[in-house]
Order: sequence, then structure tokens, then C-alpha cells
Amino acid sequence: MKLIAVSKNHSVSDIMQAYVSGHRVFGENKARELELKYNQLPRDIEWHFIGHLQTNKIKYIAPFVTLIHSVDSLNLLQAVNKEALKMNRTIDCLLQFYIATEETKFGFYIDEAMDMLQSDDYHSLRNIRITGIMGMGSFTNDVQRTRDEFKMLRHYHTVIKTTCFNENHEFKHISMGMSGDFQIAIEEGSTMVRIGTLLFGERIYP
Ligand SMILES: *Cc1c(COP(=O)(O)O)cnc(C)c1O
Repeated sequence: MKLIAVSKNHSVSDIMQAYVSGHRVFGENKARELELKYNQLPRDIEWHFIGHLQTNKIKYIAPFVTLIHSVDSLNLLQAVNKEALKMNRTIDCLLQFYIATEETKFGFYIDEAMDMLQSDDYHSLRNIRITGIMGMGSFTNDVQRTRDEFKMLRHYHTVIKTTCFNENHEFKHISMGMSGDFQIAIEEGSTMVRIGTLLFGERIYP
């Protein structure tokens, strides 16, 4: 189980405080904000990108990002591949799935993802590696609904691993669970939880 400390909207000194107490893995959801923080903080931090990523912003994070949790189209994956190639890197990515019942969340539907993973376009990409999937549960107090959504995500992971990854162990991550629902996510097989509010307090939006 990996804990991603979601530091979006929190200051460099807040992150530094978590760093000196030993934490090394942080997540951000804006490319520019992430780049700025990367430049001001120690180099042994592992940075994860967890937000909606626009293709023209990939270049800001491509040199150093450890994992992009939020790939939601072939177009984006191709754009990440292109920037990774320029940096002579392989960038690890998760496919984000649409599991919530809210319109505002991004992500693949399972059929779409399977089609992509079986396409020549996908197989021609040499500078990305898909190491799992990610999803966000609905914003709800209905714990059964949240549990069902996480079960669905885990099911997608199993189906894709079997069908498209030939049981390859590199395809191992299920990134699910935030401050409000991480316990359920862990019970349902999460390998990475993304926690902001519980670690840093409420975010203040300017
Ligand atoms: C903000 C955010 C989180 C953390 O949310 P908290 O409720 O503060 O723990 C996790 N995942 C994503 C994708 C986020 O945007």
C-alpha cells in the first residue's frame, strides 16, 4: 500500500514539513503548480500527477514525474509518449476509469479502454508503460455505493490484466481512495491511496 500525500493548494513549506517527518511521495493536480514545487523541493521526492492533464501541459512535468494517475484517452497517452521520448524516459501511467455516478468526473469506460489496449496505435507506444488503473468514487455518504464503485474498479483491473496484460505483474496498481473513503478502498483492494485533507487540513482556494 502506497500513500500519496496530495499537496495541491498547499505550500512548499507544508510539503517540507511532511518531508522532514519522512514522507517522500506527493501528488499534485496541476502541471504548473507541480513544476514550481518540484523546483523548490528536494530531489528525492517522488511526484505523482493526479489531475486532469491537458496535452499542452505535459512538458512541464515530463522530465521528472514518477506516475501519471489520470490518463483518460489515447490522445493523451500518445502525447505523454511524445514528451517522454524527448526526455529519453519511460513514463509510468495509470488509466483513469469512470466509476462515479457524477457527470463531472473524467475517465474511460471499460469497452473504450479495452479497445485502446488492443489497438496498434497503443502497441506502437514505446515511452509509456501502463502499470494499473485509477478511479474516483462518487462524492456521497452512501458507503455501499462507494464500495460498489471500488469493487467495479477492481473488477476492471482483473479483466484488463487477464485480457490485455497477459497477467504481467507490472500491471499491478489500483489507485483508489481519498480522505473520505480510503478505508473502503483498502478493503476493496486499493494499492495506492491519495490523501490530502486528512494530512494537510482543508484546502484554502484563493
Ligand atoms: C484532491 C484529490 C485527492 C485528495 O482528496 P482529499 O479528499 O483531500 O483526500 C485525491 N485524488 C484526486 C484525484 C484529487 O484531485
